[in-house]
Amino acid sequence: MRPLADAPGTAAASFDLWLKAVQHDVIAAPAPVHHALRASDNDTTRIGISLMNLAAPTGLPHAELVIRSARLRNQPGLVDIAISSGTIASVTPSNDAVPGLWTQALDADGKLIAPGLIESHLHLEKAYLLDRLPFDAATLDDAIMLTAQLKKEFTPADMRERALKVLRKAVTHGVTHVRCHVEIDDTLMMSAIETMTALRAEVADFITLQIVVFPQDGITTQRHGRDLMRQAACEGADVIGGIPYNDPDKEAHLDFVFDLAVEHGMPLDFHIDLSDDPQQRDILLVIERTIAAGMRGSVTAGHLTSLGSIPAAEASDICAQIAEAGINVVALPATDVYLNGRGDAQAARRGLTPVQMLRQAGANVCLATNNIQNPFTPFGRGNILDTALMLAEMCHLGTAEDANYVLDMMTTNSATTLKLPHHDITVGAQADLAIFDATTARGVLNDCTRPDMVVKNGRVVTAEAMPR
Ligand SMILES: [Zn+2]
Repeated sequence: MRPLADAPGTAAASFDLWLKAVQHDVIAAPAPVHHALRASDNDTTRIGISLMNLAAPTGLPHAELVIRSARLRNQPGLVDIAISSGTIASVTPSNDAVPGLWTQALDADGKLIAPGLIESHLHLEKAYLLDRLPFDAATLDDAIMLTAQLKKEFTPADMRERALKVLRKAVTHGVTHVRCHVEIDDTLMMSAIETMTALRAEVADFITLQIVVFPQDGITTQRHGRDLMRQAACEGADVIGGIPYNDPDKEAHLDFVFDLAVEHGMPLDFHIDLSDDPQQRDILLVIERTIAAGMRGSVTAGHLTSLGSIPAAEASDICAQIAEAGINVVALPATDVYLNGRGDAQAARRGLTPVQMLRQAGANVCLATNNIQNPFTPFGRGNILDTALMLAEMCHLGTAEDANYVLDMMTTNSATTLKLPHHDITVGAQADLAIFDATTARGVLNDCTRPDMVVKNGRVVTAEAMPR
């Protein structure tokens, strides 16, 4: 990113001018940008901020931010994007003259602009637990048992701190939305939901959180299971979660969460299975209930790895049913590959949901990171681009078209899952976006470790400016 050629002075000089203007109340100080500039003062050419029409005559259109010479995927030429009131106001062919008046402008210098990345399935309160483990988990049962033990020591401050660490990394890597699965059980009660609900408001200028109330240890197994699910549905959760495979009464579990979702008009998001057992077919129970409840498009299945071990003809039929029921699927390769395939003496299965088969069936498929450095996934740098590259390699998604699809999986496809109505670089969309030092989706996967710049709700944001 470089300063605008026609802007006065260097980016650093522009920052001084901007700060002076703010100090004299000439323009309002948008807090995240203010801090972003301060934090990046020695790296201004990377952020590439330059200025600015301060004295705006009335009667002319005014944009808070103009991004010039940006490249849209699969489109010839460059565009200028004007952002006003947090919304994309115009997308026009790049021109020497910026239309209207603007407070702040950047030159994207021909780099790729994409909608903000979306982590459609992430666990915040149980990230970064490795240094607390008495021993390392070798199975899914180990991971669930060890985490259940560690949860007894979780405090709100501890959960907030580790969650913020994840969210800072997410913002750094271009993520503007996270759907997080937040646990309730007889140990945590409402403490994790309350912590994440408060955090959702604290970080709203930087990243949008959707909270799934998640009964990791079952509902019928917990003395307060049903009451906690009901309470969370009324007090902060956006989505009802479920995990039938970890509840001895999976039918009662499924009936309860579907009823609760229908009662509150909320979407459902399942940890549907996490095995390579071809007999594990809980997805069929969810398909049936989704159709019966009239919830097409409002149900999501995370992991769904057993489908990858079902013989192809049968699996293909199930993929068609998933597409027909409008069930979203989230592949979580970092966890799925780590925990599955362990029973295979050689040529271990990859343990992933069959992404290509689902894609061909017309299902909406997403990718996400799931866990970071905990018993379920003792790896992870909190970078969704790492996850995307891993998935592309594991699923043979190697063509230029495939790279576009992988980018879709963490942008537009995930927006469908999160029910974000308009998550794209088009007029009227909320200005949540990232600019990458690449010209194609393939370049993003192969060459980028993070975006050059992230914009949330029309403002440049950085992790350094986030709450501590
Ligand atoms: Zn999960």
